[in-house]
Parts: sequence; C-alpha cells; structure tokens
Amino acid sequence: EKKRLAREKDTAGDVLGIRITHADRLLFSDPDITKIDLARYYGVVADRMLPFAARHPASILRCPQGPDHQCFYQKHASDGFPDEIHQVPIEEADGDIANYLYVDDARGLVAAVQMGTIELHIWGSTVDRLDAADRLVFDLDPDPSVTFETVKNAAIALRDALETLGLKSVAMVSGGKGIHVIVPLLRLAPWEDAKAFAKALSAKIADNDPDNYIATMSKAKRKGRIFIDWLRNERGSTAVAPYSVRARAGGPVATPVSWDELGDLDAANGFHIPDILQRLESGTDPWAEAKDWKQGLTKSMLKSVGTE
Ligand code: ATP
Ligand code: MN
Ligand code: MN
Repeated sequence: EKKRLAREKDTAGDVLGIRITHADRLLFSDPDITKIDLARYYGVVADRMLPFAARHPASILRCPQGPDHQCFYQKHASDGFPDEIHQVPIEEADGDIANYLYVDDARGLVAAVQMGTIELHIWGSTVDRLDAADRLVFDLDPDPSVTFETVKNAAIALRDALETLGLKSVAMVSGGKGIHVIVPLLRLAPWEDAKAFAKALSAKIADNDPDNYIATMSKAKRKGRIFIDWLRNERGSTAVAPYSVRARAGGPVATPVSWDELGDLDAANGFHIPDILQRLESGTDPWAEAKDWKQGLTKSMLKSVGTE
C-alpha cells in the first residue's frame, strides 16, 4: 500500500526527449530547484558549458536521493547507463583498461541528471588526446581563516604572474570556497610539461610569499594560508566543470567570471541557477574570448619558472 502511494506521487517529465523520473523531487531550497529544474538548467547552459567540458573524461557526483542524502563520485560506467553518457576505454596507471564517462552534448548532461548527477568534474584533456592538457587549473584553496578578499587578490596575482610569462587566464568561482584560475591551451601540453609548469610556478609563488601561500598538500601548514592546488594538472585528475551546480546548500554554481567583476564579488558561492539563467539571457559570457586563444606552454615559459 505504502509503495503504491509512493509511486502515485512520483512524477515524470521530458527534457530534450529524455525521461526525467522523480521530476518534482526537491534538490535545493531557497531558491527551490527540483530534479527537472536541474535537468532543464543543464539543457540550456550546455551551449556555454560544452566548449570547455565536452569530450573530457568526466567524474560525476551522483546524489540519487538528493544532495542531503548520500552522494558518490563515479568515473566508470555502471549498469543501466544510457547511451547519451558516452564511454571511452582508458588505460589506467596499473595497466588495466576501464571505461570512462564523457558527454558531448546537452542530452548527455540531461541524461546524467536523470542518473542523479548534480556535479560534473572533468579531466584537463579530451578523449581524442588524453595525453595532453587543453587547460591548466590553479585551484586556490583557502584555509577557513582566509578572507575571500585575500583569495581574490591571490587569483589576480596569479593572473599577473601568468600574464608576465605570456599566458592569458580566466577566473571561475568554484561554488565552494575558492577560485580556479584557468589557462586554456589550444596548443596542447604533454601532461609532463603541464604538471611541471603548474608545480614550479605554484612553488615559486609560495616561496616568495610564504606567509600567504603554500604549495604542498599539508593541512597543518595551511593555517591562515592559501593552498595553491596545482595537482589538478595531472593525467586523470579532475576539476569541477564550469557551470556545474554544486551539491551544497542552495545549489551554488561553479561560475566563470570576468576579471573585472571578480573584484565586486564577496563569496565563491554566490551564483545560483537563477543567476546563471539570467546571465545567459543577458548575453553575459565572461569566457567568450578564451575559446579563441591560441596559446601553449613554451620551452622558455617552462624555463622561466625553473623546470628543467
Ligand atoms: P572549493 O573552492 O571549495 O575548494 P573545489 O571544487 O575546488 O571547491 P576541492 O576540494 O579543492 O574543491 O577539489 C578540487 C577538485 O578536485 C574538485 O573540483 C574535484 O574535481 C576534485 N576532487 C576533489 N576531491 C575529490 C574526490 N574525492 N573524488 C573525485 N574528485 C575529487
Ligand atoms: Mn578548490
Ligand atoms: Mn583542491
């Protein structure tokens, strides 16, 4: 009897031709976002998101009962995965081959939501060139005692350091506590170079200002400092995709911002789905230019930061 009642309350709807079950399940409140709202969000944000996220092996954060219940990261396909979520065989460090997930269109994102996905995390390379990075990510992770003002200044200092080396970068507030400074690379960088460069530059910044930065993982040494997490720049590492919703209270979005507007923000988790929809409507596209940047890591850049 109970089971039947539950089923009667279940609703379904279609987004881009994909059946969304439990469509009215409330995932976030204030603003209220149901499962079908989330599916529709990913359906419309896809055009902005996919130039950066399509065809990158993905790790999805699934919360089948909603973000207040158990969530888990999934990087390999499992039973019942729909065709819209594609698979690519990848050789792992131990030599085993596993099928990784990726999406290449709006329907893939919507299908992921149907599977309970809230967050999409991506590699820094694409399925046709797994061995070379198409972006660098500097993930600024502040200790809780660090103010957002300080994190913003760190992001701007990092932008300037990159600019001095000849690299343009974009900023994304993570939807959590920090900022990701991202260097789009059209001339792909072998992982070895990407990692060595990110590590050396991060270490250099931390060496120059050890009161404010740390470039090693140590939680103990992070007190009062910003950890420049350069470890996103490895084959197989992921970072949250631009425009991904986060499975945290209120459903904040990992949001691309312009360097100008970053100065006015007071938190990394201030953008929510309605804000992003509004930005789409008004044509606000902070990373529009970045798609055409034709930059890559050069020997002299690697040398400048002190790699071999
Ligand atoms: P914040 O700004 O709050 O730090 P964040 O997304 O940058 O948010 P981090 O903890 O710094 O969160 O993690 C950086 C990235 O590393 C994540 O976006 C995610 O892609 C990846 N990551 C971290 N922990 C895990 C995990 N347990 N499983 C899979 N990926 C993870
Ligand atoms: Mn982070
Ligand atoms: Mn991190």
